[in-house]
This record gives sequence, C-alpha cells and structure tokens, in this order.
Amino acid sequence: MMDAPRWCEEFDLVEGNTLRLPSRARWLVHAATAQQVVAVVDESRARNLELWVLGEGSNVVLPPRLETVVLHSIDERIEADAGRHDCVDVRVGAGVHWDRLVHWAAERGLWGIENLAYIPGSAGAAPVQNIGAYGQELAGTCLRVEAVERSSGRIQTLERDECGFGYRDSRFRREPTGWVITALELRLSRAGCPVLDYPGIAATLAELNLVGDVPMDMVRAITMLRRRKLPDPQSLPNAGSFFKNPVVSEAEFRRLHADHPELPGTVVPEGVKLSAAWMIDRCGWRGLRRGGVGVAPSHALVLVHYGGADGSELLALADDIRTSVRQRFGVELEQEPLVPQSR
Ligand SMILES: Cc1cc2nc3c(=O)[nH]c(=O)nc-3n(C[C@H](O)[C@H](O)[C@H](O)COP(=O)(O)OP(=O)(O)OC[C@H]3O[C@@H](n4cnc5c(N)ncnc54)[C@H](O)[C@@H]3O)c2cc1C
Repeated sequence: MMDAPRWCEEFDLVEGNTLRLPSRARWLVHAATAQQVVAVVDESRARNLELWVLGEGSNVVLPPRLETVVLHSIDERIEADAGRHDCVDVRVGAGVHWDRLVHWAAERGLWGIENLAYIPGSAGAAPVQNIGAYGQELAGTCLRVEAVERSSGRIQTLERDECGFGYRDSRFRREPTGWVITALELRLSRAGCPVLDYPGIAATLAELNLVGDVPMDMVRAITMLRRRKLPDPQSLPNAGSFFKNPVVSEAEFRRLHADHPELPGTVVPEGVKLSAAWMIDRCGWRGLRRGGVGVAPSHALVLVHYGGADGSELLALADDIRTSVRQRFGVELEQEPLVPQSR
C-alpha cells in the first residue's frame, strides 16, 4: 500500500525560495504521486485549510507567514516511451529538476528543450508561465499536462490546446487556485536542428569550439551564456526577470519610438515586444539599493535580496519601479514572480 503523505508543521521556507526571503508555512506536505496530491487536496478541504503549491521557489515572492498547506511535489520520475524513428514521448514528474530533464534529453540526442538549459525550477512549474528562453518555450514540445483539478479533486489530462499557453502565460497562471500539476508529457525529436537566431549563441558556440549540431552543444553554450548574464541566486538571491517584456501595438510602438528613438522593440505576432530592462535602466534603477533589496548592478530586470528584508519590501520596490516606468513611458509593467494565493 502507498504511504500517506507526511505533514510537517511550522516549516521554514527560507531555503525553499531563491530570493531567500524569510517565510514560514503552517504546514508543508510532500506528495510523490498524483494520488497523494488528491489525498492532500481532500484532506485540506476536510480540515478547512487553504492550499498553495510550491516548486523550487525560483519564481515567487513569499510573505513572512503562509497560513496554508504548502504542497510540494517529489515525483522525480522521467519515463520515455519506446519511441518512433523521429521522436520520443517523455513523461516527466512534477518534482523533476528542470535542468536535469534538459541534460537527460541532450545526453540521448533529443531536441526540443536544449535552449531552455539552466532555467531554475521544477518541471511541474514549467507550464505555469510556459518557461521560455533563447527562442524556445515549453509549449513547443508539451503534448499534455496531468493535473489535479482542485475543485473536484480529480486527476485530469489537459491537452496542449487546453493549457492556454502564451508568452510567459498559461491557464495555470491565470487560474492560480485551480490546478496542481502532477506530470507533463513532452514530445522530443531525434532529428531537430539548433535554434541559433538569438544574439550571442553563435559566438558562444564558436568560443567553446562547438558546432551546435547535437543538443548537448547547445546546452553547453546556453548554460555559459546564462551564467555570464544573470546573477547566480546562490551568491545574490533573486527570482530571475522580475517583469515581463511588455507587448504593445505597432501604433503605440511608433509613438514611443518618436520620443525614445533608442527603445528596442522586437516584432512578435501580437505586436511589438519592448525591453523592460531598457526602460527600467533609463529610469535610473539599475544597481540601486534600498535597505536589504535592490536592482542587480548587472541587469536592470533582476531584483535582488541582499539580506534582512522581507517580501513586502521587495514588492514595494517593484511598485516604485512600475510607477516610474509608467510615468516616463506610459507603459505598464507586469510582474513575473507570483505572490501566493490560496483557497
Ligand atoms: C536566475 C533565474 C533565471 C530564470 N530564468 C528564466 C528564464 O529564462 N525563462 C523563464 O521562463 N523563467 C525563468 N526564471 C523563472 C523560473 O525559473 C521559472 O518560472 C520556473 O518554472 C519556476 O519553477 P519553480 O519550481 O521554482 O516554481 P515556483 O517558484 O516554486 O512556483 C512558481 C509558480 O508556479 C506554481 N507552481 C509550482 N509548481 C506547481 C505545480 N506542480 N502545479 C501548479 N502550480 C505550481 C506556484 O504556486 C507559483 O505560483 C528564472 C528564475 C531565476 C531565479
């Protein structure tokens, strides 16, 4: 018989979030299977306790106290089907460390997620904001997501079209109390080709003396690029990009460009994607420190915790940044890391 999930009371989450914000959960529960998740959802409801899901805490701003049950997946299984000549379908447990999966695939010569190397976090959180980097995003390979629907307590399979994936967005992000993701199924290709169009990739491959004709070459190059570009949360606690790059209409971009000719913009299907980092930098925030929080000196999009602060100080800084960008450019920035919501 399967063991029941273990409930830990008064759990310290400071090591469980990459911003290293002080936080304590009333309860923490580890779930190894979808059935265990169902049991936790049911028991929380029966005990009238609110529930919230935590992965590796790399995209959250935690409050000092969570009066909830914090559910954490420890399903670390990666299971591949026998495969066809051109592709392999892989089932990934929600608790798998994302970068472990990227290496697992690259070691087998499988294409599709190699440019998503070195993104922190768990596989279970990857669909929430449809993780993306260097020209790839999760939606490109995701076939379906297995999740427990919290209202009914049932295990459901959502096909890709039902997941509502968008730029750093999905149905799971829009319905934060709706689902607990328990596994993903990805289709990886045996015969892919490298995505090289992002600045810096070709030069990094050349620097490493790699061609890029196997997925592991791409993993090595992307890992090196990312290590150079973003502060390491181990030495400077952060949650990666704190704001999404806003997308505006072409007319709006022309208006902005007239006033700010250097403002970078990339044409995307929905309009023109602006650089949030550029705007924040122009407002003078890069490198600024306020108490225990600040904006990374090396990257205006990364908010950092120097120590001694809590989530409210970080969110107040984020609010002030948003206000100054709105006042100077008339553009609204949307926060990327989520603040726990429970029910
Ligand atoms: C240095 C750094 C660089 C980063 N670079 C990138 C990047 O290039 N691209 C990118 O897209 N992101 C990036 N991120 C953000 C982050 O890595 C991703 O969002 C990642 O998917 C978060 O995973 P996690 O397990 O840490 O999720 P958490 O931070 O624990 O949770 C994030 C959200 O997902 C929810 N959630 C987590 N697990 C589940 C589940 N099983 N079911 C339902 N909801 C769940 C949580 O409730 C929360 O709302 C970066 C972060 C850091 C710190």
